[in-house]
Amino acid sequence: MLASGRHRRGRPQRHLADMSDAEAAEAMASFGLPQFRARQLASHYYGHLDVDVSGFTDLPADRREEIGRLFLPPLITEVTHQTADEGMTIKTLWRLFDGSLIESVLMRYPTRATLCISSQVGCGMGCPFCATGGLGLTRNLSTAEILEQVRVAARMMRDGQVAGGPGRLSNVVFMGEGEPMANYRSVVTAVRRISAPETKGFGISARNITVSTVGVVPGIRRLSAEGLPIRLAVSLHAPDDALRDELVPMNRRFDTAQVLDAAHDYFLATKRRVSIEYALMRGINDQERHARELARRLNHYGDDWVHVNPIPLNPIEGSRWTASKPEDEDRFLEVLHAAGITATLRDTRGSDIDGACGQLAARAVEGAGQTMDGDVPTVS
Ligand code: SAH
Ligand code: SF4
Repeated sequence: MLASGRHRRGRPQRHLADMSDAEAAEAMASFGLPQFRARQLASHYYGHLDVDVSGFTDLPADRREEIGRLFLPPLITEVTHQTADEGMTIKTLWRLFDGSLIESVLMRYPTRATLCISSQVGCGMGCPFCATGGLGLTRNLSTAEILEQVRVAARMMRDGQVAGGPGRLSNVVFMGEGEPMANYRSVVTAVRRISAPETKGFGISARNITVSTVGVVPGIRRLSAEGLPIRLAVSLHAPDDALRDELVPMNRRFDTAQVLDAAHDYFLATKRRVSIEYALMRGINDQERHARELARRLNHYGDDWVHVNPIPLNPIEGSRWTASKPEDEDRFLEVLHAAGITATLRDTRGSDIDGACGQLAARAVEGAGQTMDGDVPTVS
């Protein structure tokens, strides 16, 4: 829900990253430029991660500024960033053309660097333990707004702006704000660009891209048919319908049986192990009987098709749910392991900077200047 109006309505300006190669070539022609200019521009954008047309010396000098204005409008502007984990985690707050705010988090590890990105402004799914859920949905992000989050992070890694020196962005997870399946077309188009080889895309292996869903079954089924070897994560959080109805309102539409059937079919279609996300909430879903029931439900489909990622709940202000006791977390994992289920406690990178990956909710940061115009989404 928005605190107060004044949002400019409509869509962000169309950007090169919203266009297929053919559409970009056509757009060039419509501006009286040869079609091959589109390929040159794409190689600057995807290959060199660059949007500063003044340095694009292969483009005619007298048209560069115009090409930049038409194809590479600035879509995301940094408002502020916070670092944690000795500079290895960077959370950035972005402002969009209409004043909307979103966040992304870059997390560097010894052997990989993962970017957690947003697919919507807020989220309409209303999970009561989730900070984004409290915002409500403002709008979908465009493909280019999604891709810009990736481009900037890939550039920061390349240019050594993240502690640890120059490196490569290797993984992307759709676990920031929003429900990816509710913005299906833009998300899948973005995934194809992220994974396309360099100069056509960002060259990040599709196997290193994760789409996390609350359990929108038609979206999971559609994704199974895309022929993309990406990882699917399903936010289950409860082993049965009575409990899941309470924690995940979408369960009343697509229940645990439908969600697990679709997840297993995704595994069969892609041969990629599905991740089950499970936020451990003290005394709610973290007891031995929950772990046993979860294992039973998953083993029903056979072995080795799934990986459970319990994560200690990061409690949101005013919520009646809190994180599990460490001994309950340990016991939960033991029960899963004893039942032959692979499970690892998900790390809570950046939880000391007010929202790790998966718990994002753009909100006003005092003094950062983004409270202008009253355009800030707030929890109402
Ligand atoms: N809407 C999608 C993706 C974004 S949320 C989804 O729900 O899957 C990414 C992950 O963070 C989900 O597994 C979500 O359930 C989890 N999450 C949300 N709020 C959380 C919190 N307070 N503590 C721990 N995990 C949380
Ligand atoms: Fe939306 Fe996911 Fe948060 Fe649920 S957990 S409200 S689906 S972002």
